[in-house]
Amino acid sequence: MHFHTLSPPQQIVTTMKWIYEGGMTTSTGGNISLKEPGGDIWVTPSGMDKGIVGADDIVHLDPDAKVISEGNPSSELPSHYCIYRERPDIGAVIHAHPPGLITFSIAGEIPDTNIISRMREVCGNVGFAPYRIPGSEALGRSIAGQFARGHQAVVMENHGVAVGGKDLDEAYRRFELLEACCQTIIHANRIGNWRGLSIEEIEKRRLQTRSMPSGDHTPDHSEQLDLRSAVTEIAKRVCRQRLMTSSGGCLSVRTGVESCWITPENINKRLLEPEELVLLRQGQSEKGKVPDRLATLHQQIYLQHPGVRTVITARPPCLSALGITGRTLDTRTIPESYVFLRDIPLVSCSRELNDPEEAGRLSGMISYETPMLLIRNELLLVTGRTLQEAFDRLEIAEFGARSAIDALVMGGANPLHETQLRGLEKFIS
Ligand code: 13P
Ligand code: ZN
Repeated sequence: MHFHTLSPPQQIVTTMKWIYEGGMTTSTGGNISLKEPGGDIWVTPSGMDKGIVGADDIVHLDPDAKVISEGNPSSELPSHYCIYRERPDIGAVIHAHPPGLITFSIAGEIPDTNIISRMREVCGNVGFAPYRIPGSEALGRSIAGQFARGHQAVVMENHGVAVGGKDLDEAYRRFELLEACCQTIIHANRIGNWRGLSIEEIEKRRLQTRSMPSGDHTPDHSEQLDLRSAVTEIAKRVCRQRLMTSSGGCLSVRTGVESCWITPENINKRLLEPEELVLLRQGQSEKGKVPDRLATLHQQIYLQHPGVRTVITARPPCLSALGITGRTLDTRTIPESYVFLRDIPLVSCSRELNDPEEAGRLSGMISYETPMLLIRNELLLVTGRTLQEAFDRLEIAEFGARSAIDALVMGGANPLHETQLRGLEKFIS
């Protein structure tokens, strides 16, 4: 389902629910507003439990800021208005106190979105607004002053973050990815030195959607509906587990020698429906649909590896932290990770992952012994013989990365030794 088909209050309530369930706001913190093309504003009510806010609670104001519904608008309304006045291109604003961004806010720093090319593309260069009293005009001016410089997201000193977008869909994508960026940097700082990309490197890696031509095929509505439903369910679980952001990663399943179902570009995966998956066939996408921008890479893997039935590409924060510090996960720590993950090489890339040559090179590194790749400053690539196997690998790898990073403050992880590893060989199928 397209987010834009929801009414303004439903869009706000749905987004607030994702933010709350994703652990990105407390029940009293944060607020969301949306500006309609005619100038009417919809905003969350003040002081209400954000975990249970309903569409009827959303406050409606006319373009002159007069409340035309029930309820008290957010106390941060002055900031929202200041941003809209300063930036007519912005149609929605999210303010919240998510833990990763708060860490930057209280440390007086801004996250470097150049750690991963996609983060830079979506979040841009982040601004920093000096502290002012919550709810004041002065706070609004402080934040709007940063938006006036072209920033799309602003860390609010000792308070939180304000993120804008042309609509709420875009603002949420940015907000979610920026929080993931902060989490990644915080984990990376615990590991050691990390490296961001230069603007030139980011330009070279910018993903293109153009490389997949549209074909004539249109699948029947009922075709493989069970399989498609299973993919959408897993996509939602992956998002809920915060192993990928709702607009950030990609899932696909093979359906034939040269065909697969793949998640579409520009649809929030939390709302994904089976009918919205895109059928790729012989290098062409289903008529009238746009597949995820990593479609060429996914297809290349199916072409080269007949045993692979699922591919997932994602940017889970702990593995991404390893990726930007130039390390990879030592899987020889517990039987589960050694048996299911085998080795995860850290590999580099110098251009767009969808470039046919680059996709072929990366795909060539996948094998039975190497079902996953950690691509530096990019993403984790997971393959599996089933959908379940790939999902399981993604979960195990991110859990393992989190424990390995946490173990650093416990004196480090003790790997399994050779004889213990040999004893596990019989479990490897
Ligand atoms: P409201 O509940 O009034 O929107 O305030 C929450 C908040 O985050 C204040 O900065
Ligand atoms: Zn606040």
